[in-house]
Amino acid sequence: MNNFYSCIECGYYPVSSTARKCPQCSRNPLGENCYICNKRVADSKKITHSVWNSKSDTHTYYYFHPECLNKACPVCSTPNTGGYSCSKCGHPFDIRITTCLHCLKPLQERLAVKGEGLLEYGLYHGSISIIGSCYDQALRAATEKVKRDEEDRIRAARYMEEKKIRDQISREEQRQKQEIDKKQRKIDDWWQKEAPGIIITTVVCAGLGLLTISTAFWFSIICFAYFLAGILNIFIGMNGLD
Ligand SMILES: [Zn+2]
Ligand SMILES: [Zn+2]
Ligand SMILES: [Zn+2]
Ligand SMILES: [Zn+2]
Repeated sequence: MNNFYSCIECGYYPVSSTARKCPQCSRNPLGENCYICNKRVADSKKITHSVWNSKSDTHTYYYFHPECLNKACPVCSTPNTGGYSCSKCGHPFDIRITTCLHCLKPLQERLAVKGEGLLEYGLYHGSISIIGSCYDQALRAATEKVKRDEEDRIRAARYMEEKKIRDQISREEQRQKQEIDKKQRKIDDWWQKEAPGIIITTVVCAGLGLLTISTAFWFSIICFAYFLAGILNIFIGMNGLD
């Protein structure tokens, strides 16, 4: 299916809908779509704005009718019929287009809202623009980001604090465990090396004390004294005391 059109530049008919070049004037016969009104705009009249996408390293092109950017003269209110200046008073129209930092779509500079505070250095669509308020959305996003960053910071600090306490506790537990092990080794050591001698001596002292209590009283008392000293030594050794 192939429809015919008139050339947007010179009016020549018929021009194919897929033609790139007008047979009569050799210009682009169909023009481009205007970003604002979505109607065709001739190459000779269009205002072009390109947006570079740093992620894909590509340019997106946007086209405008001059009269779509300035509907009327801001000085004498005469409607714009398609020029770069007012047809009645000659006031130049403002056709500067920039890119909204929030949505990366074209933005008329005279309608842009300048970022303040959290949004420093950026230009944004305000509430009276053709797209809606990107400024409000960007500000909300920036505010939330600040809040999130702060929460992350607090969470990280709390984690570090808890980790410090956990480490301290585990060091203390480690220390206690080592102490208990050391004591146990000491007790084991005592049972192996000293206990047999001391126990035998103590038992012998008790026996001697009992046997001699009626015949050699003072000797018996000394034996009992050794016996008591032995009991004390056994108690100290069994419990790993110093
Ligand atoms: Zn033509
Ligand atoms: Zn337009
Ligand atoms: Zn004017
Ligand atoms: Zn925007």
